[in-house]
Amino acid sequence: MSLIPFNKPYVTGRELEYINQALINSHTSGDGEFSKKCQALMQDAFSAQKVLLTTSCTAALEMGVLLSNLKPGDEVILPSFTFVSTANAFVLHGITPRFVDIRPDTKNLNENLIEEAVCERTKAIMPVHYAGVGCEMDAIMQIAQKYELAVIEDAAQGVDAKYKNTFLGTIGTFGAYSFHETKNYSSGEGGALVINDEDMVERAEILREKGTNRTKFSRGEIDKYTWVDIGSSYLPSDILAALLYAQLESMDKISSMRKRIYRRYLEQLEPLANEGLIELPVLPEECRTNYHMFYILAGNLSVRTALLAHLRAKGIHAVFHYVPLHNSPMGKKLACDGNHLPVTDQVSERLLRLPFYCELSEQEIDTICNEIRAFYKIR
Ligand SMILES: *Cc1c(COP(=O)(O)O)cnc(C)c1O
Repeated sequence: MSLIPFNKPYVTGRELEYINQALINSHTSGDGEFSKKCQALMQDAFSAQKVLLTTSCTAALEMGVLLSNLKPGDEVILPSFTFVSTANAFVLHGITPRFVDIRPDTKNLNENLIEEAVCERTKAIMPVHYAGVGCEMDAIMQIAQKYELAVIEDAAQGVDAKYKNTFLGTIGTFGAYSFHETKNYSSGEGGALVINDEDMVERAEILREKGTNRTKFSRGEIDKYTWVDIGSSYLPSDILAALLYAQLESMDKISSMRKRIYRRYLEQLEPLANEGLIELPVLPEECRTNYHMFYILAGNLSVRTALLAHLRAKGIHAVFHYVPLHNSPMGKKLACDGNHLPVTDQVSERLLRLPFYCELSEQEIDTICNEIRAFYKIR
């Protein structure tokens, strides 16, 4: 029986050539030829003011928080149905997470519940674009403007996806992308910070270079560099940037391969959804997804557990997703477990992600869907 893994990193074929070039360039630290190329490519493709490569999306989120000048005791509004880094970026600096429930359709922060969570300590909103589908950013930006809140988009899964006519990550004050192995375009570990306010660019460059003005020095704008601010080392090696460049160059090709998989899953599973056995992902008209993942919702936790076990027994590696942060051990330590987030609790118990990677064949997709159908027949 053939095994179908959950994820398989895609290789475009140019990675080694570019890595080799980075070595020949004798510039393997950060901000070499390939870092610049990646940044320029993204600035151009996404019409972004400024993009800086980082070692991870986690690092980019942390930079966004540092640049937003938040203080211990401030609050941030964010979903609980997300990856730990979304919350940790704030908790690291003593900022209190205020978890808000998600929409049942997109599983994104429910914009209609944000305003009632705002208090005088609220200083930021961090929307997460789940599965590469945009949050309702018009409403979120409107609330942010009204209460003067920073908006840091966790666009880890949303690289090359759009809300209305704007790329995710370029709408808030800052946006953060991930190039982790599990994301659409990957350098193993990696990320980028999108800076949408020109006045923030210089300080972003400084924080990223250990609190020094070395970036200005590298551009020949000053003749020595020195310690001018707080900071850390957030820039990746140019070897990883070379790997990433091969991936970003193939963005359209990767996207269309993923679209094909998404469409086939949808087609094959629609009959089960029509019978009310499962729920399928919803794409709002105003969003263009990057086809980051394909998930279904089972009726309840015990059905999902049984379905996962059935698929595993057939060699198909499907997985569930987030354990809500408000109920996690750390969420309890922060006393967030009293929050009433019914949609988050339900979705996290019912959602199941299917194998999704460029090389997944139509035959494999059909096998997976047949097994899902078989599961519901024998029940
Ligand atoms: C993957 C992911 C991250 C973390 O990305 P890294 O690059 O691994 O740091 C953060 N938030 C969300 C929503 C993610 O999916």
